[in-house]
Formats: sequence, structure tokens, C-alpha cells
Amino acid sequence: MKRTIEQLNVRGKKVLLRVDFNVPLDDNGNITDETRITKELPTIKYLLSKGAKLIICSHLGRPEGEFNMKYSLMPVAKRLVDLLINKIFFAKDVVGPDAVSKANALGEGEILLLENLRFFKEEEKNDPVFTRKLASLADVYVNDAFGTSHRAHASIVGVPKLLPSAVGFLMGKEVNTLLSTLKNPQKPFVCILGGAKISDKIYVVMNLTKIADTICIAGGMAYTFLKAQGFSVGNSMIDEEKIGLAKQILDEAQRRNVKILLPVDHLCATVFSPTSKAIVVRQTNIPEGLTGLDIGPKTLKMFKKELSQAKTVIWNGPLGVFEFENFSKGTFQVAKHLARIKARTIVGGGDSIAAINKTGKAEKISHISTGGGASLQMLEGQPLPGVEVIEDLK
Ligand code: AMP
Repeated sequence: MKRTIEQLNVRGKKVLLRVDFNVPLDDNGNITDETRITKELPTIKYLLSKGAKLIICSHLGRPEGEFNMKYSLMPVAKRLVDLLINKIFFAKDVVGPDAVSKANALGEGEILLLENLRFFKEEEKNDPVFTRKLASLADVYVNDAFGTSHRAHASIVGVPKLLPSAVGFLMGKEVNTLLSTLKNPQKPFVCILGGAKISDKIYVVMNLTKIADTICIAGGMAYTFLKAQGFSVGNSMIDEEKIGLAKQILDEAQRRNVKILLPVDHLCATVFSPTSKAIVVRQTNIPEGLTGLDIGPKTLKMFKKELSQAKTVIWNGPLGVFEFENFSKGTFQVAKHLARIKARTIVGGGDSIAAINKTGKAEKISHISTGGGASLQMLEGQPLPGVEVIEDLK
């Protein structure tokens, strides 16, 4: 168990809080979705109520180590002014004179938001000098940036080695929910995985064969598994290099009595286009000249049946090219079904979350995991460097 902010004495202390304010901005610098800010408010308000002098740091976008007004955190500072009654200051640098003088002048219950960490290439390089300067702004450190905690960056793994550390509320909830589910899932435990990048998720499938009862595989990644089983997949996407590993995983699952369910029918197209009509292929083999872009009706029924019997479900990744209306059915039907069933449901990955939000039933999902890469790393059974480095609860 890692120390949380409730076990940290922050009164009168300068607290460096690493958050994920990586919000989408339009061309005029307006925030188009402020979920990441509003979700952070409980940790911020708690620390302020305990008398912290709060120094908040975050990254935004990919400025590649250079100052770029387009990725400034200034719009976030302005939004915080509307959302909180506390005094808020903004530093136009991170470890430079503006940040140092404003951090030193902070009073209890006041906030200083630092400029984008990634304006400095030292952040992503975990540079020791930059790390020391960042740590020297504060007395204690709190990490609430779950979505970045798989990265060995200065503000994630460097600073907590130099200061007393704890995890914030958001981070604690994300990590504990996933850890407890993976350690002790109520059975039957059904996972449903989709998306395109098999290299991202094949190790997730591998780890889940040790834990889950059933793994439903769909989306672009399904065809590599189908090919490994000897089926023809037409022009569907496959990763030749991963066919051998997919075969090993299928064998291992069988040995462990874990069901891996692959599509048994498909919605296909002759060209990859948003206007392509769906051609239903009512068999596992896909004929030459066709590309699988969504699961077929029999597969959907089979997956739904499995989900209806589950007590725990983890879903990550779309079941088809859901951006094309004619190939979005599998993804949206599964999203709707998850909102209906009684199981404990955990949804992760930007596309799956978007699909759930579009159904208007997000509140029916037990936990929506915000950090794509970080949650996949946990599903792979790998520790998160940014969590490992936080002090254990004594
Ligand atoms: P990922 O980032 O790996 O979760 O992949 C998400 C993307 O997978 C989405 O943009 C989908 O359009 C894409 N995808 C899902 N199913 C397929 C498929 N059958 N063929 C090609 N791309 C797919």
C-alpha cells in the first residue's frame, strides 16, 4: 500500500502536486473538455483545506521540449480561477526565477500553477539537475497523474526520490480499482479487448490468460489471432511478427482452461472508407478481397451472452472501425450492453470511453479508467514506475 495524501502532513508546507491537465484545446486556446480539471478538484481542495501551499505541475500535448504558446497551461490557470475560490498564481517557467520566487511567496491555501513541464526536454529525459531544481521548489510531493505514471519522467519518478511522497485521490482510486480487480476478481471474469495495435495489447492478453475466465478478442487485433488458428482473413489487418506469439497464447489459454473467443462472423468492406457498405460474412474465414472492419451479428450475440453471465468485466478498445457508421455497431452495442448488465464493469482506452459516453450511460459503468497507456501496463501485470517510487504506508 502506498502512502496517500490523508497520511501526509501538509500544513504550511509547499506541496508539489503532479497532475494530468493534458486537456484538449481548440485553435483559440479554449478548453473543449475539462473533465481532467474537474476530476482533479477533490485532491486540490483537500490539500488546500489542510493548509498546503500548492504548487501544481502538468504536461500538455507534445511540445517536444520547446516553448510553444499553443501548449501553454495558461488557459487551465484561468479556468481554475473560475472553479476555485483560492488565490491562484501562474509561473511562466517551471524551475526558473518566476517559479522559484512565486513558490517562495505562496501562502497557505494558495495555488501556483507552473507552465507546461514538457517545454523542457529535461522533463522527459528525467534529467537529474532539472529534477533537483523541481524538487527544491517544494517540501513534499504528491502524484495524481495516473495517465503518465508509466513514464520515467523527472516529475514522475525523479522528484519523489528526493521528497516525502504520496499518491492523490485520483491515482489511488485508479490503481486500487485495477489492482484489486486483477488480484481478486469476482468470477466469471470476462475481458473484452479490441483496437488496432496488437503490439500494445498482445501482452495484455497474455497476462489476462492467467486471471480471466473468458477473453473476447475483436477489432483489428482479432485477425492476427484468427490467422494463428489457420483461418483466412482476406485483406484484414494483421501483424505477421506476432502470429507466433498469438499461437502460443491460444495454446496457453487452452491449457489453463481459459476461453478465448474470436469473431465467428464479420462485417467487411472492399475498401477502407467511411462510405463503404457493410458486407456480412457469415463464417470465420474472410474471402480474398474483403477487409474485416467490425464483428458480425453471431459474434455480437456470443459476446453479449458471455458478458451477461459475468460478475466482473474489463473492456478496452473498439470492436471495429467505429469511426465509420456502418462498422460501429459492435462497439456501440457492447457499450450499451455493459451499461445494462449487473457485473462490476471497468472500461479503459479513449475510444471505448468515447463510445460509453455516446450511449449516455457512463454513470452505469463501475469505473472508467482515464490513463490509456498506464492502465494497459497494469493489465499486462507490469508495475507503474510512478507508483512504485512512492513511499509505502508505514
Ligand atoms: P487502439 O488505439 O489500438 O485501441 O486502436 C483504435 C483503433 O482501432 C480505432 O481507430 C479503430 O478504428 C481501429 N480498429 C478497430 N477495429 C479495426 C479493424 N477491424 N480494422 C482496422 N482498424 C480497426
